[in-house]
Amino acid sequence: MTTREKESLNAMTNDTPTLRFDGRAFVNGERVAARDGQTFDCLSPVDGRLLTPVARCGAADIDAAVAAARAAFEDRRWAGKSPAQRKRAMIRFAELIEANGEALALTETLDMGKPVRYASGVDVRSAANCIRWYGEAVDKVYDEIAPTPDTALALITREPVGVVGVIVPWNYPMIMAAWKIAPALAAGNSVVLKPSEKSPLTALRLAELALEAGIPPGVFNVVPGYGPEAGSPLALHMDVDCIAFTGSTRVGKQIHVMAGQSNLKRAWTELGGKSPNIVFADCPDLDAAVEAAVGSIFFNQGESCNAPSRLFVEASIKDAFLEKALAKVPAYQPGNPLDKDTVMGAIVDETQLATVLRYIESGKNEGAKLLAGGERVAPVAGGCYVQPTIFDGVRNDMTIAREEIFGPVLSVLSFTDVADVVRQANANVYGLQAAVWTRDINKAHGVARALRAGTVHVNQYDEDDITVPFGGFKQSGVGRDKSLHAFDKYTEIKTTWIRIDSPI
Ligand code: NAD
Repeated sequence: MTTREKESLNAMTNDTPTLRFDGRAFVNGERVAARDGQTFDCLSPVDGRLLTPVARCGAADIDAAVAAARAAFEDRRWAGKSPAQRKRAMIRFAELIEANGEALALTETLDMGKPVRYASGVDVRSAANCIRWYGEAVDKVYDEIAPTPDTALALITREPVGVVGVIVPWNYPMIMAAWKIAPALAAGNSVVLKPSEKSPLTALRLAELALEAGIPPGVFNVVPGYGPEAGSPLALHMDVDCIAFTGSTRVGKQIHVMAGQSNLKRAWTELGGKSPNIVFADCPDLDAAVEAAVGSIFFNQGESCNAPSRLFVEASIKDAFLEKALAKVPAYQPGNPLDKDTVMGAIVDETQLATVLRYIESGKNEGAKLLAGGERVAPVAGGCYVQPTIFDGVRNDMTIAREEIFGPVLSVLSFTDVADVVRQANANVYGLQAAVWTRDINKAHGVARALRAGTVHVNQYDEDDITVPFGGFKQSGVGRDKSLHAFDKYTEIKTTWIRIDSPI
């Protein structure tokens, strides 16, 4: 972090008392209360403070938002603009996110507990970059003409799918929303977004900024509320053409059922993970492998779908690896997320904290060895904090190795045989990401091929870019976010046959 960035963060965190939040829904270009007037309290996991009441929307509010989105789509106020016009509005939208970046970052930190240095340096930047990238892309993608006989012309064109419902989780509220709304809006769709009830505030602000950027009223609507009350009516809605979901595998399965039960809307799901990180004894840089193993599981308090939560270390280097890993743990002790130096913040709420602590108990009860952490702590009174936790002696069939914890808990397993570690790595319902560390190019390629995961990292775990697809094999979901592939989710392919009676 540069000195200027630090000064800027200092100034920001002094600003929290002046921040004002608006928890009302955003429908048809306006802030509105839930139709029945109900609200729920949005509490900060930083210190338990009440941030604001938020509209507790239900089926009637979803109906109103879908109707607004449908009307906007049918009169083509957005879909009918040229790609270059949509590009300009999207780029302006990205610029406004950056211009409002400080308030957005503070809001994200207060709402879901992540350190403000990352809310600012990662979440705001990535969300703006994503929206700009899809805006930039949309007037550079071409349609196709099929290689048919001369007697006809067959055009293969992409059209927006229509009204897109988006449901997102709380761990990267702005980024998860941006990964979906950016390609959906760029392609000309109208969107109804339901943010997580645990982190609804930045999504509501994004909708205001989109309007200010020139995205017409009704095109981007945000309806906060609980999953069964607001999410289900959206997934079941007969006038929603596509539902794009990020969240747990449990709810993701219900989303596909709801799509089938209603109008067979296109359903895309980005779900959970239990990613294996395999370190061979011939790892080219043990320090880098340790840094990545520890840093990636503790980043965002372990609340990352792609966190490398199962660490397989070759038996001959395990002791050396663990010694280095344990030496890093003190640097990740939780602190006040509003403090610019904090690298691990608060768990999103009391419910998620209780889940993490339950998994830690199950690790102890099933015979894993607790090497570090394991306790709730209180760097800020009233907040939700847990120590960075490492278990050794984990077996792949233990609960903490099988199930997604979504907290800062690393399970360490050891192995001696390549085929066996690949079998163990793949023996899980998830297939989101994986990593392999070795200096042997044959082993790197062979293992990367054999791992059943949407992304495999070789000798690093940090690379990420909007240009590459993100998504999972198996029960980690269906479809891909990011990259040009994301347009596949939000467009229909149409074939138009034109008869040619050539005079020549
Ligand atoms: P969750 O499934 O509990 O909730 C996700 C969203 O679904 C929330 O907005 C919630 O309100 C809504 N929801 C809940 N029940 C619903 C229902 N019955 N009908 C419709 N909507 C409903 O997940 P979470 O706890 O918010 O997020 C954590 C999960 O998200 C983890 O499993 C994580 O791995 C996953 N995730 C995946 C990715 C990815 O790209 N693969 C990225 C981030 C998070």
